[in-house]
Amino acid sequence: MFDSEVRTLCVVGAQWGDEGKGKLVDVIAERADWVVRYQGGANAGHTVHLGGRQFVLHQIPSGILHPGVRCAIGNGVVLDPDTLFTEIDELVREGVDVEGRLYVSDRAHLVLPYHKLLDCESAASRAIGTTGRGIGPAYEDKVARRGIRVQDLRHVDRLRELVQGGIEHANVQLAASGSDKRANAEDTVALLERLAPRLLVLAEDVGLAVHRARLAGAAVLLEGAQGSLLDVDHGTYPFVTSSSTTSGGAATGAGLAPTSIDAVLGVVKAYTTRVGNGPLPTEAEPAVAEEIRKLGGEFGATTGRPRRCGWFDAVVVRYAVRVNGLTGLAVTKLDVLDTFATIPVCVGYTLDGEELDTMPADGESIARVRAVYEQLPGWEKPTSAVRRLADLPPAARAYLDRLQDLARCPMRYVSVGTRRDQIIEVP
Ligand code: GDP
Repeated sequence: MFDSEVRTLCVVGAQWGDEGKGKLVDVIAERADWVVRYQGGANAGHTVHLGGRQFVLHQIPSGILHPGVRCAIGNGVVLDPDTLFTEIDELVREGVDVEGRLYVSDRAHLVLPYHKLLDCESAASRAIGTTGRGIGPAYEDKVARRGIRVQDLRHVDRLRELVQGGIEHANVQLAASGSDKRANAEDTVALLERLAPRLLVLAEDVGLAVHRARLAGAAVLLEGAQGSLLDVDHGTYPFVTSSSTTSGGAATGAGLAPTSIDAVLGVVKAYTTRVGNGPLPTEAEPAVAEEIRKLGGEFGATTGRPRRCGWFDAVVVRYAVRVNGLTGLAVTKLDVLDTFATIPVCVGYTLDGEELDTMPADGESIARVRAVYEQLPGWEKPTSAVRRLADLPPAARAYLDRLQDLARCPMRYVSVGTRRDQIIEVP
């Protein structure tokens, strides 16, 4: 993906998340100098299979699995320091060298125990189906200008004041929600004082560091979490995450200028899944959904929740192509469809008998649209050993051709299994 024209590449999910971004980033990171996470928090979970081992990374970019690649957590991420160190320690135990190549933006906001408490005790969070990791409340504090940033750990007195303010607000919220739980400022300050020395070693002006690396010719990969349809602006609001998952958010969240992004790769499953509540126009009937779930191992990496499953939705992907300015697609999990005799693909929607070509803004309308399907023949042959497009069964190639035509975006990769080598690069 990197060449003389493309030095900064952004990878985004083009559906509702869990598209297999972690695997794609892992594949592309081999050729990158820097990998930067730009939004979300420990609610994301990338699963990477490597050498028979499985790594689930919640906050650290999956580029960390490539020796020598520098990884950064950008200012747009809300960072849970406690789980960050759990993740680092696990990687080190598995023999991954993290020392000196992981950076955390000094402008990133912290997710603290009271954010998690608020998330778990909130009826609104339950209605959306959040992961309960405190991400929403931490972003709320950020936007309300009462957040705590990594760099605040450098000033203990200021930190105490900020924690006090954050906790007072959290406790008012907890009381209002009818919860009898309360957050405690002393415990939070003690936690931060314990973690500060380890965290401050990693603190860096990430935007500046990456800018300098770019000037020196580095290849930079911006790694998105969640998916475009979960973007706080472009997603199926209010069933969205609290951050900008799309490529616009990549610039802001990595601390780079929008003009520095040279290409945007959208990762899409060959079908569609969604975790949590909210509309899913191509959701399959329960028995078929169950079959896809079983074949695709569609259970959340962070929560283990079963994912809702359905067919490829070209309206969703076309929308993602537009709002992200996608320059290429990576189609994942083609192998999951290997056994189906016929595969429906949604080519458009109707709403009250009218044709729709794009996503409506109104969630209620999205919940009511009818998906218009085309039935494509399945290939009924295993694909996971294929490494060249030409070696795929003709029906599988026709299926992929149809997806890229419907999406109106060229396909650059096809993934046919969980392992790093199970990838087809499209010439
Ligand atoms: P991400 O957050 O977008 O990286 O997605 P997740 O890691 O939550 O989910 C993707 C899951 O699909 C992981 O378990 C991957 O190992 C797996 N996966 C990725 N690509 C493929 C593929 O081509 N085929 C199969 N069978 N599994 C894949």
